[in-house]
Amino acid sequence: MKAIYMYGAGDVRTAEVPDPVISDPADAIIRVVRSCVCGSDLWPYAAMERSDEGQALGHEAVGVVEDTGAGVRGLKRGDLVVMPMFSTDGTCRFCREGVLSGCENVGFFGRQGWAGAQAEAVRVPYADATLMRVDADADDTLLTSLLTLSDVMATGHHAAVVAGVRPGHTVAVVGDGAVGLCGVIAARRLGAERIIMLGRHHSRTGLAVEFGATDVVPERGAEAGERVRELTGGTGAHAVLECVGTEESTSTAIEIARPGGGVGRVGVPHYPAVPQAMAAWVKNLRVGGGPAPVRFYLDELLPDVLSGAIRPGRVFDRAVGLDDVPDGYRAMAGRDALKVLITP
Ligand SMILES: [Zn+2]
Repeated sequence: MKAIYMYGAGDVRTAEVPDPVISDPADAIIRVVRSCVCGSDLWPYAAMERSDEGQALGHEAVGVVEDTGAGVRGLKRGDLVVMPMFSTDGTCRFCREGVLSGCENVGFFGRQGWAGAQAEAVRVPYADATLMRVDADADDTLLTSLLTLSDVMATGHHAAVVAGVRPGHTVAVVGDGAVGLCGVIAARRLGAERIIMLGRHHSRTGLAVEFGATDVVPERGAEAGERVRELTGGTGAHAVLECVGTEESTSTAIEIARPGGGVGRVGVPHYPAVPQAMAAWVKNLRVGGGPAPVRFYLDELLPDVLSGAIRPGRVFDRAVGLDDVPDGYRAMAGRDALKVLITP
């Protein structure tokens, strides 16, 4: 089958590899119907060290179950499923507590030697616990929104949950990528009254407004902080969603949170230490976050996608086939595309 591999910075290729096979009774093989390129794939795309064997890519997929191991109970061939960005056993102490990234048997798709979803098919460990079955006929539009449940919509929701978004709150979202835009949807969904989007890319901030943002702040750094303070009567936001992962974005997020507020960090951190320790302490901020416990949130988010109450699939603005995925990476890295859909 075809699968996408990265062999070094800027070097993404379509490879011919053996079809995945069931290697554990709890496995399922899914045929990938839709996958995509993630903003987090751009970090290794910018900096990965050369590797002859390469790394399979892709942690977001909607698929159809092709085969199941003898131990799989809740899925059968032909089921439509959402594949969360990592697999979890569903039974360890952390899974039971809902802290899925702490699963004792966690496996991040398309990372550290694990197979990826930017492929014709992928093996899913602990399929019963990992995959979310979708009992609906999905057209193209619905498939793209379902696909965001693998990562970006669940991650935006996680940022909002960790930041403590409540009805009536003023929320600020740092980052106008797909996660930030989904963070706007999540904040709106949780009842935020005012949503300030920090971003400067017009097509993206325009979509943010359609998703429910009430204000757009194109400034960065200290100027962004001033602007948010102006917009909030000098106080800052109750909840801030940090959806970038740089030191500057995290510093801004902490700066624009109001005393007693919360910051949800979901951008993969590319800095050695959380900045603004004094400001966060003086303001009694709750600063937290990490990989979203995707599967844990799907019971809540899937019905809203199926009903059309939320349409996060609108973040996709380009589609490529598996042979053209290298072009998709180039487009996203050059910010010509917001999020690239892959239709195998
Ligand atoms: Zn577990």
